[in-house]
Order: sequence, then structure tokens, then C-alpha cells
Amino acid sequence: MAARVAELSRLLTHAAHAYYVLDAPVMEDPVYDRLYRELLELEQAYPELIRPDSPTQRVGGSPAEGFRSVEHRIGLLSLDNAFSTEELEAWYARLLKVLDRTPAAGEPLPALPMVGELKIDGNALALSYRDGLLERAATRGDGERGEEITANVRTIQSVPLRLQLGHPPAWVEVRGEALIPDGTFAAINAERQGRGEPAFANPRNACAGTLRQLDPQVVADRRLDFFAYTLHLPDDWQPGPDDPPRPASQWESLAWLRAAGFKVNPNAELLDDLAAVEAFFARWEPDRRQLPYATDGVVVKLDDLRLQADAGFTQKAPRWAIALKYAAEEAPSRLLRLSCQVGRTGVVTPVAEFEPVPLAGTSVSRATLHNADRLAELNLHAGDTIVVRKAGEIIPEVVRVLPELRPAGALPLQLPPTCPECGSELVREAGEAATRCVNSSCPAILRGALRHWVSKGALDVDGAGSKLIEQLVDRGLVRSIADLYRLDAALLASLERMGEKSAANLVAALAASKGQPWHRQLYGLGIHHVGEVNAKALARAFPGAAELAAAAAEAPERITAVFGIGDEIAQSLQQWFATAANQGLLRQLEREGFSLAAGAAERAAGQGAGGAGDSGDAAPLAGRTFVLTGTLPSLSRRQAQDLIEAAGGKVTASVSKKTSYVVAGAEAGSKLTKAESLGVPVLDEEGLLALLEQGKPASA
Ligand code: NAD
Repeated sequence: MAARVAELSRLLTHAAHAYYVLDAPVMEDPVYDRLYRELLELEQAYPELIRPDSPTQRVGGSPAEGFRSVEHRIGLLSLDNAFSTEELEAWYARLLKVLDRTPAAGEPLPALPMVGELKIDGNALALSYRDGLLERAATRGDGERGEEITANVRTIQSVPLRLQLGHPPAWVEVRGEALIPDGTFAAINAERQGRGEPAFANPRNACAGTLRQLDPQVVADRRLDFFAYTLHLPDDWQPGPDDPPRPASQWESLAWLRAAGFKVNPNAELLDDLAAVEAFFARWEPDRRQLPYATDGVVVKLDDLRLQADAGFTQKAPRWAIALKYAAEEAPSRLLRLSCQVGRTGVVTPVAEFEPVPLAGTSVSRATLHNADRLAELNLHAGDTIVVRKAGEIIPEVVRVLPELRPAGALPLQLPPTCPECGSELVREAGEAATRCVNSSCPAILRGALRHWVSKGALDVDGAGSKLIEQLVDRGLVRSIADLYRLDAALLASLERMGEKSAANLVAALAASKGQPWHRQLYGLGIHHVGEVNAKALARAFPGAAELAAAAAEAPERITAVFGIGDEIAQSLQQWFATAANQGLLRQLEREGFSLAAGAAERAAGQGAGGAGDSGDAAPLAGRTFVLTGTLPSLSRRQAQDLIEAAGGKVTASVSKKTSYVVAGAEAGSKLTKAESLGVPVLDEEGLLALLEQGKPASA
């Protein structure tokens, strides 16, 4: 334990110096926060391990060199953080306790009015005004001493140089947040990179770096902004007749600051109770993304200034305020083991399994490491502390390792030499990133093939979930896709989590799947490189497996003549059809009643939509590629894609110079921007329909 405390303390001290003094962080904020929290919890559990130089024992960093260091009249503290509703409630319970307002058992919690403010991700400044004139501006520094940066702060237009008061106090201190708007941040970084200087990691560091510029003109050019949020008025101040009254609450302080000429963030709200706090926090989670500056949470402050004084401070932070932080997208975690997943094509993917961490709103405990190269690049060792990222819907990934926290003597991790599922030796071909199991009867490959066959885009068999497939393979009941069609309801009903009804439904769904169109059957076979789009193109050009197999073996040029199909796919088809096990599978499927060919209706439609070599005007969009983005007013993505494909066009996922058109609807994203920058023509739904209409043969 002592060793972990020492390690964390060393790493966090190093990170805080890089962050506060050098304005060049060495880790992501949420990673810092989480490791800091771990250290704090260890120190709370083992107070004898607290070292006087622990980063938990002080606020911020030491003042940077180059500016005069000044002592704050009133210390500038940090804020305690809460990362969950439970932590917010715990803070409130502690607050009630110090205020001696804890309710009796069974009684509801007393509601104390609070002010909710956005937590702006900038830099705290302390501004002192003497007789209404700005006298001194200082950074927070270590909370006791900061850097005196008055000349720079005087360039910030939203900081009044003179208070708009008839009777200004002899001395008053105003605190708030200096910030760099997002647009300026991007411009500063572009400029720095142009000069070969490293980019700032985030607007907060850019702002800190700017405030410490020695030339106030540079600061002026960067157009910083300032929101005031704290007021320290001397006890003896009396307002003049036109001055705002002396505030008794945080809410009134904000009004006072506004009246005195400060810019106060307009999004603050007076909140009646914890439920209102939670609603405020939840509402700003999405809304904050629309703001032109960075925020990382909300700050909740007890409104009544007298109660604030009663609650007081801990060593580092006020007891009457708490920062609620938004769910992080990155966090550190401890690696538990490295496992391997074998996919349906035999590709072995290393997977990091780690202690569960909440990330972007969900608990995450596994992340793929892609391949052996990525594994080597990360230089992962047993027991490593890793940084994990999950942004929104994106699949979790391991960003990097924190080698400083590596246990002594830890061994490096590699992919195993043999398949974890079937024990056969793994193969990695020269020039290939993937490591594979090449045993075609490997149960992992079979499970993957079955899952793919029944999936939505393929044969779309309802009721054949992963758990069921696992049982079927593990018990040796199914050895190939075709075996699925020999299962009887009685046997299925005897399996775990299956009943007679679900067994009968599954048998019926399997029988019905035999009528799925040829392109879905082809896609379902899971041939390498034959995804949904290629399967459709191939199915249009070759009316059945027999024709496709013949072309693959004897006339690959007929395959590559299909629009969008290249050599790689032709080769993959050739290999697939030449493999005895696959030929056996096709025969078995035919025996089970699959046509493996287009039905009459499909043939008619296929001809209409242009098969290989059919370049008549029935395929008006042949040779053209489309990218769809955003939401179209009436067509779904799928419908638009079907229309384009039926007219012989191809739909791909990303925009390149070769893209013929981008079809954009509402809330179109980066694909639209890319199309515009590459000069690719952009169509709306109407434009697409007009294009389709133009190509139609004149109706008889
Ligand atoms: P904090 O940023 O969590 O909270 C305190 C600060 O919030 C105040 O000083 C003030 O600047 C700001 N704030 C914004 N809006 C406010 C409002 N309406 N009312 C009051 N205050 C408001 O705590 P901290 O002590 O400044 O520093 C910790 C932060 O620094 C964390 O976010 C941490 O991740 C980051 N940090 C990162 C690294 C790293 O290596 N990445 C190292 C050290 C610190």
C-alpha cells in the first residue's frame, strides 16, 4: 500500500507540475482526477501514509517564474468533486451535518437553496479593486501565492478597469474565470504549429499560457474573456443610493457583480433542492456542447452567505460548494488479463480485460487491442495501469500505458502461440497485421460463422442468439451452418433457456430463412471481403452460386468487371470456392432446400438494375458512387441506398475524390464538410430523386 501511495504521489506531482507550471499536461484530466481520487482514498484509509509533499495536500501548482509572486489576501481554494449522484448526496449530507441540520430518521432532507453555475474550464483569477479601480490581478497559483499578471488582465475587455458604482468599497476582491473561446483556441494552436511549437492540449492550458505571456499585446490579440462568480466585500461597505444592495446570498452576489460592470455567466440558476441540482446538471450535459467555450461540469454553491460562513472550509476547498463533473471519456484502470477473441474468419484479436471503470456513462471492463502490432506498440505488461477511452458510441480502446505505475518485475504480454479455442498453432503471414487460427473446424470460427449467418443483414433468423449458438456448438449438435436446418424442435426445447414455444418459433424462422434472396445467402456465407454491398453487386451479376463459382475458377475478369469489385475480392472468392469444405457446405445447403440462386422475381429485378456487362439505360447510375449523410426528409438511409443500388449505383461509407455525389440531409456531419472541401457535388433528397428520375427509360 505504501508503495502505491508513493508511486501515485510521484506520478501526480510530476503531472501537476507539467499542467500548472509548464501548461503542457502529460495526461488527460479525467485520468489525473481518477488517480488523484485513488491517492486521496488511500490516504484517508491510511492517514499514516500521508506525506507532507503529497499532491493532495495543496492547491494547484507553485507560481511560475517570470512574474512577481504575490500573496493572496484571502486564499484561493480548489473545489471538491463529485462524479455521481451518490457523491452529490453524500456531499449534501455532510453539509447538513456541519450545519447541524441532519433530519431525524424518517424525516425528509431539509432543502437548502443552492446556485448552479457552469464549471468553466479556464483559469481562476483574483482581481482586487481599490476605490473602484483595478489594482491587481493574480492567478490562483498554489492558493496562497499566485503570479501578478495585472498588465495582461487589463487587456481583457470584459474585466472592468473601474467599477460602475457610486460608492465603491475602499477594497474589494472579485474572482472569476478567465477563458479562451473555442474558436480562438483553434487559431492559437494552428499558429503555434505553424511556428513548429507544440499545440496546447486544451483551452485551459492555452489560457494559462496566454495569461503568462510577457508581452501584454500578445494577450490582447488573443481576446480572452472573463466571467465573474465570487465577491469578497469588506464588512463596512455601504452602498450608495444607486448602488446594488449588499448581497446576502450567492445569487445576489452575481447580481451585484453584474451591476458593478462584470460579465456574469447567464446560465446560472437558483435551485431549490437536490432534485433541481440534478436536473440542472443533466440538462447541461448535452447543452454545454453548444457553448463557444469549454466546460467540464457544474459548480453547486450553497446560496445563503451566512450558511456558507457557518459551513467553512476544509484544508483545500469550501464545504459549501461542490463541482459535479461530467462523465469522463478517459480513465485509468488496472489490467487484469490479456485474453484473445477468435473471429469467424479465424482472426485472433487480443483483448485487454481490466477493472471495470465508468466511461461515457457505461461501465467498461474490456477493450480490443486490434492486433499483435498494436499490442507490441503499447508495450503492455502484466498488472499495468492503462488509460482507457470510450467516446460516445465508440468502442472502448486502450490509449496507452502508464509505465510509472508498473509493478516491479512485471512481464511483457504477447499473443499466445496457439489458438485459445482449439489449440492449433496460430499463423501470421508476412506483411499481414492479423494473426489467424487456420483450423476451419475451430469452434470459435464455427460460432462466428453461425452468428453471421443468422444476423440481420444475412439470413435474419429470429431467436438464434449467441448463447444458443454457443450451446449448439459446445454440445456438438451443430458442426456447420447446414446443421442448423436439421435441428428438431424437441431437441431445441431441451436446451437451456429454451421452451417448446421458442423452439418451435426458431424451427419456423429457420425454415422461412430458406426463402431469403440470393444476395443475403451469399453475404451470409461470410466470404472474406464480401460484405453486404459487394454481395448485392455480385448477386446482381451472377444469378447463382454455380455461376459465381465457375467465374471465380475460370474467368476472374468477369468478376472484376462488376462495378466496385476488385482483384482482392476475386481472389478471395476463388479461394473460397476452391476449398473442399466450402463446396461441401454448399451441397449440404442445397440438400436442406436452399436455392443458392436468384428467384424469378430477383432475376427480373437484377436485369432491370443492370448485371455485369449490362450497361443499358436501365442502370442509369452504373459506375457512380454515393455517400449518404444526415437524415433525409422522407427516405430512410436504407430506402435511399436501395433506390441507388437498384439503379446500378454504389453506396460507400466514406467520401473521397472518387465519390460521384454526397447525398446530405439534416444534421449532416463531417462527410458533408469533406465533400465540400473536395468539390464533390452535394445533393439533397429532391436532387437524388431527380437524378433517379432522369435516368428512367421513358415510360411506355
Ligand atoms: P477544479 O478545476 O476541479 O475546480 C476548481 C476550479 O474551478 C476553480 O479554481 C476555478 O478555476 C474553476 N471554476 C470554473 N467555474 C467556476 C465557478 N462557476 N465557480 C467556482 N469555480 C469555478 O480544481 P483545480 O484544483 O483547479 O484542479 C484540478 C483540475 O486540474 C482537474 O480538472 C484536473 O484534472 C486538472 N489537472 C490536470 C492535470 C493533468 O495532468 N492533466 C494535472 C493537474 C490538474
